[in-house]
Amino acid sequence: MAGRKPGVIALFDVDGTLTAPRKVVTAQMLEFLRELREVVTVGVVGGSDLVKISEQLGNTVINDYDYVFSENGLVAHKNGELIGVQNLKSALGDEKLKEFINFTLHYIADLDIPVKRGTFIEFRSGMINVSPIGRNCSQEEREEFEKYDKVHNIRPKMVSVLRERFAHLNLTFSIGGQISFDVFPQGWDKTYCLRYLEEFQEIHFFGDKTYKGGNDYEIFESERTVGHTVTSPEDTAEQCRSLFLSK
Ligand SMILES: [Mg+2]
Repeated sequence: MAGRKPGVIALFDVDGTLTAPRKVVTAQMLEFLRELREVVTVGVVGGSDLVKISEQLGNTVINDYDYVFSENGLVAHKNGELIGVQNLKSALGDEKLKEFINFTLHYIADLDIPVKRGTFIEFRSGMINVSPIGRNCSQEEREEFEKYDKVHNIRPKMVSVLRERFAHLNLTFSIGGQISFDVFPQGWDKTYCLRYLEEFQEIHFFGDKTYKGGNDYEIFESERTVGHTVTSPEDTAEQCRSLFLSK
């Protein structure tokens, strides 16, 4: 598109930034993004897969923006074309994955906790999710485990053992939710997508979870970006208006 600022991109988190949490984007927001795209290159980066992002932003999402990064950019689209795919299996290989999974299952087998159910490891395309109680516990068991974990530090202890044992794999461990933690290669947060944006000198990133531990923190703090914290889609539009559309 002619008339757009060269070397500048507006890059948006999806959930909580372009849409209300776990909601679908509004017609006004879509209209605003179309307007914005007249003056600046626009990209979106979400932690979910493309199917879930399409549910929130619409089925034409890969054609509606210049860049669409799903799974933090492990899957990358530019102008509607797939330009990159990465996953755990190709990054680590089966030998290392097996070593990690075997050790983790042994550790859980030896763990003495009040309740165990099933699905202790869930293998996803960009991460391994580990749950000492097992993901198919009931809601009540889930809450009980969370309380038990707060007292006995089951997850923090397990993470420190795995971190030391697998230091050579350069993994990041992230304890979130009530019953599990995520394991993924270092750098597989939202900063992953920045490798596709080397031609831009000015990357404005907008996200709602920019605090430490939030899923926008690393990209917000990155030296490659100018970070903007937003509180809602309306706030996102307002901040963009004054940045890009005020003149
Ligand atoms: Mg968000």
